[in-house]
Amino acid sequence: MSGKLFVVPTPIGNLEDITLRAIRILKETDLILAEDTRTSAVLLKHYQISTRLESFHKFNEHKKVEHYTDIIQSGKNIALISDAGTPSISDPGYLIVKACVDAGFEVECLPGATAFVPALVNSGLPSERFIFEGFLPQKKGRNKRFDQLKGEDRTIIFYESPFRLIKTLEQLAENFSLQHKVSVARELSKIHEENQRGTLEEVIAHYKSHPPKGEIVVVFCPRARMSEHEQNDSE
Ligand code: SAM
Repeated sequence: MSGKLFVVPTPIGNLEDITLRAIRILKETDLILAEDTRTSAVLLKHYQISTRLESFHKFNEHKKVEHYTDIIQSGKNIALISDAGTPSISDPGYLIVKACVDAGFEVECLPGATAFVPALVNSGLPSERFIFEGFLPQKKGRNKRFDQLKGEDRTIIFYESPFRLIKTLEQLAENFSLQHKVSVARELSKIHEENQRGTLEEVIAHYKSHPPKGEIVVVFCPRARMSEHEQNDSE
């Protein structure tokens, strides 16, 4: 009988944000695949998990996926983790999950930490319908992506680096308006967690005077503009 692939979310900052089941599965599984074994070793040591650890990242996943599906085929269970959050969400995972699904193996993704959910909920922007865009293309395809988003009316979530945050906010303002509302979640669950909410104009001005650092999620709502009434009040 073949084994199973467990996809296991790990904390995005605060080490306490891991479930009891995730710890148990990581202890019981035959092998853990981690994006960066040194990063994950810290977490595993903290929870006294001594399961064998091997590296599986975007530079070797194509070469190694068959090796690991053979191991599952032989009856062993494998747990996949990434540096932070849920594997396959802007992280490696899709390839091995697809290979397991295609081969008819059981795949189970545990519910757990991921950055975009707390960022969306914290934002105060509409959360009943949203789209997750991950990282925007850095150069080629970037403008096209903004063009595609122009007709969008659902809340849009982006992952962004601190070095491109202002550029992204300015491009949102060019494609929508400076009065559209945005929320920037920074360093979620960490000591310096911060949520900056306001119009694009306000949030751009904030980050121009306080250069951003750390990990960032941008939550933008094409439908939420500062009303004329609010605008007049602030003038
Ligand atoms: N797999 C992860 C998840 O489930 O969210 C995402 C991994 S992706 C390589 C890393 C990006 O996620 C960061 O650049 C940032 O945009 C976002 N991110 C991860 N941790 C975060 C945190 N603590 N606060 C804010 N954003 C975070």
